[in-house]
Amino acid sequence: MSKTIKVRRLPRDTGPAAWNAILSSAPVYPQLDEDIDAEWAVVGGGFAGLAAARRLNQLVPGQRVVVLEAGRLAEGPAGRNSGFMIDLPHELNSETYAGAKDADLRQIRLNRHAIEFARHTAAEAAMPKQVFDPCGKVTGAATQKGEQHIDTYSRHLASLGEAFRIMDATEMKAWTGTDFYRRGLFTPHSVMIQPAAYIRMSAAELSRRVCIYEHSPVVSMTLGDRHVLQTPKGRVRARHVILAVNGHIQSFGYFAQRLLHVFTYASMTRPLSEAEVKRLGGVPDWSLLPADPMGTTLRRVSSYDGSGHRITVRNHFTLNQSMEIGERHIRRAARLHDRAFSARFPMLDGVSMDHRWGGRLCLSLNSVAAFGEQEERVFSAACQNGLGTVKGTLSGLLAAELALNQRSTLLDDFQASAQPSRLPPEPFLSLGANMTMRWKEWQAGIEL
Ligand SMILES: Cc1cc2nc3c(=O)[nH]c(=O)nc-3n(C[C@H](O)[C@H](O)[C@H](O)COP(=O)(O)OP(=O)(O)OC[C@H]3O[C@@H](n4cnc5c(N)ncnc54)[C@H](O)[C@@H]3O)c2cc1C
Repeated sequence: MSKTIKVRRLPRDTGPAAWNAILSSAPVYPQLDEDIDAEWAVVGGGFAGLAAARRLNQLVPGQRVVVLEAGRLAEGPAGRNSGFMIDLPHELNSETYAGAKDADLRQIRLNRHAIEFARHTAAEAAMPKQVFDPCGKVTGAATQKGEQHIDTYSRHLASLGEAFRIMDATEMKAWTGTDFYRRGLFTPHSVMIQPAAYIRMSAAELSRRVCIYEHSPVVSMTLGDRHVLQTPKGRVRARHVILAVNGHIQSFGYFAQRLLHVFTYASMTRPLSEAEVKRLGGVPDWSLLPADPMGTTLRRVSSYDGSGHRITVRNHFTLNQSMEIGERHIRRAARLHDRAFSARFPMLDGVSMDHRWGGRLCLSLNSVAAFGEQEERVFSAACQNGLGTVKGTLSGLLAAELALNQRSTLLDDFQASAQPSRLPPEPFLSLGANMTMRWKEWQAGIEL
């Protein structure tokens, strides 16, 4: 007997996807407006969805793959993130991003596999360095406590056999232009992407072999010999489905009471004038993670595709189990961004923000993915725990391999993880989580 799943909520994003907004106009993909058949339907056109579609096309090139995206590519979280593709453990829940040693070694293997896949994608799509830059990453400390976090984390890296280099205050200033940071920790294997350009270019290259539809939200799914995905103007009848919708996997009825819908926020300056670039000093492109996970992420980019030289500030987390935020959330974050910006860049006094936005993350309490076969031939590649550029890519490509029964040590490793653990009931969850985050932000002090 067939079962129909009604999709309870569709994604709604607040504020612009600035990384997309600063690029020249995007290629448009059609809306699905007819009934079609495909071997594979991938729902969601973010990191996970595009990686799943690309991997399917590599493994079964003769089979028809369709990607259905609710909105426009690179307008959702995929075009709203800071672009850190991090190979090392990046536990937002922890004091220093680190976890247990064995789990971290396994995570590094998995993350590097995803980054390699992204590197091939970048090569196939001929992405320039400003879109995919294997420049490593720096964690910056502005306080003694931040320095202690760096010390603890670098000891952990040494125990994992990972390379790193400490940067002193002089080097940090020469690099960033600001004297705000007392110390930095450089690790060499992360990649910085212009996230919207990465998504656009990878989709454009893929669209030669895979059908991509925008403005085609899946509103219901009827399970059967061929699953039927209904969108407002057309249907896809597909033998296999990969749900690559991150937290919206719950809107399809899966992982109820097991996923945390956390929002984080960012602001991006207007283009800096030549005089401002000179006053700032430092190198044209750099990015910095805060030593305290609750602190401020910064990114400076030089002009690409007419975007101008800009600085992006990201901080602040809220838990919103409704999966939506309002303008008041953006206004509160804006105050924190402006404070962080003026503390770090007094020489840029008066530089206004062009764009302010929030975006969804999906986390689980035990930091595992919402991954696997949920129904016969329906697979999920979701819950990226705040590192979707990497973990989304990973879960997408591994979902394709799982669906095709392509066993590997990596897939076994990934599947060996527990399922997301059960959350406390409301209202305790939201009250408790938001209070804890405000407390941690306060403790982060000027790292925020
Ligand atoms: C401000 C900010 C900074 C961040 N910084 C980083 C960072 O530096 N590094 C990092 O790795 N991560 C970062 N993230 C997180 C990262 O953006 C996400 O983890 C990542 O986008 C998740 O990838 P995904 O493909 O799983 O999901 P998404 O990118 O959310 O893609 C899922 C897609 O599914 C679509 N969808 C949902 N429901 C439906 C439906 N019913 N029908 C059709 N389509 C549907 C959505 O429209 C969406 O486009 C940041 C996020 C934010 C907001």
